[in-house]
Amino acid sequence: MLTQEEIVKKEREEELFEVHDPAILGAARSILDSCSTPEQMQEAVLAAVKRNEKWRGQECINLLAPEAPTSPTVRALLSSEVGTRAAEGHIGAVNRWFAGTKHIDEIEALCVELLKKLFKANYADHRLCASMIGNMAVYTALTEPGDVIMSLPQPVGGHSSNRPDGPAGVRGLKIVDIPFDQDELVVDLETFRKVAPLVRPKLVALGASMTLFPFPLREMSEIVAEWGGKLFFDGAHQLGLVAGGQFQDPLREGAAVMTGSAGKTFSGPQSGVMVWNDPALTESLTSAVFPILAATHQVNRVAALAASAAELLAFGQTYMAQIVTNARALAAALDKRGIPVLAPHKGYTTTHQVIANVRQFGGGLEVAHHLAKANLITNKNLIPGDKPEDWDRPGGLRMGTIEITRLGMDQAEMETIADFMARILVKKQDPAHVGREVVEFRAAYQTLYYCFENGLPHLK
Ligand SMILES: *Cc1c(COP(=O)(O)O)cnc(C)c1O
Repeated sequence: MLTQEEIVKKEREEELFEVHDPAILGAARSILDSCSTPEQMQEAVLAAVKRNEKWRGQECINLLAPEAPTSPTVRALLSSEVGTRAAEGHIGAVNRWFAGTKHIDEIEALCVELLKKLFKANYADHRLCASMIGNMAVYTALTEPGDVIMSLPQPVGGHSSNRPDGPAGVRGLKIVDIPFDQDELVVDLETFRKVAPLVRPKLVALGASMTLFPFPLREMSEIVAEWGGKLFFDGAHQLGLVAGGQFQDPLREGAAVMTGSAGKTFSGPQSGVMVWNDPALTESLTSAVFPILAATHQVNRVAALAASAAELLAFGQTYMAQIVTNARALAAALDKRGIPVLAPHKGYTTTHQVIANVRQFGGGLEVAHHLAKANLITNKNLIPGDKPEDWDRPGGLRMGTIEITRLGMDQAEMETIADFMARILVKKQDPAHVGREVVEFRAAYQTLYYCFENGLPHLK
């Protein structure tokens, strides 16, 4: 006979539907079961955070395209006192529910004005806890359920937030694919010119998680303007590049609104930003943020966002230019060593991203986990030619140069990193062995640059 406790445990393990990896949840339960006090449970959490900080923060070569390390000031602000304060609503005493927000108003106003300055925009919203929420705000403000929009499908770089499985789908929009040229890796403008008038999208969402080349924003905005359609630029990845003047400038090329992630190339606290110019959009966009999608919007994060905007004003141009230079150098170095990279005929990339085709090495999932054994962090990615059934095991590998650039690396180090990868994938060397050299190499790069504390790196 099972005791009541054992029955509960058995049910928990065998019958409850679970989306998370049951083995990892099980391991966490055993750790908690082995603790005799809640304080020890808290210590278990702290220990895991420390392990990550040592490995990912100090030992790995991090090539994840959507991650950026934040400056010491920005990190410190994330744990500031103001993060325990609740502020909802728009800036100003009568707009808030709570009293006592006079300094919070100062912080938020500085953030809004810094964002406006950085993006040369008339309006900015600072309250988006994620760029995904920014996209939801745009769909809430600028569409009605049943409207038609166009966006890029995932296999050519599209993101769930603009697709049926994300905010656009939740809004009940009909979503038509933007035609994409799979060889040139750009929007197929000629086909768009034919398809768009047939479906007359109210909104065209441009922007992508796999993003190598600029978009024909000017031409597309002129096409959809014929029926009053608008262009929405989802610059989640490119936001920092735009701020640093190293990518196209969507607000000046026909986009009505731009959203973006503050934690990708922008290199601030993970969250979202939204900017626009037209006063006629202000009421609908800001009321979609509050009271619809954000209430307590984490003022510590807003302070950190403001501080990182100031860093980009000072260092954005050089930092972002080096990120792109490094991406092109890393792509060429990988290609030279037998790891094929997309778009060699176009210089590989004009952003922070490098996309390799790793089908011959076992596919993106296998390769990413194999490289992680050597402390080289990348992610699997769908690439043109992948089918919907390849979703979990796509043929591509995505890399980005944000973190390695902020650590002060330049083109010479890209050769070294490509060497590490080629030794594992092409020469089939033991990742554990290569991984020890990765840790030694990384030990020399522990300072973050392009911030007021440490200034610019001394590049060769
Ligand atoms: C990452 C990404 C998002 C979501 O950004 P979060 O800040 O993580 O919410 C939205 N759109 C695109 C194209 C992205 O790549």
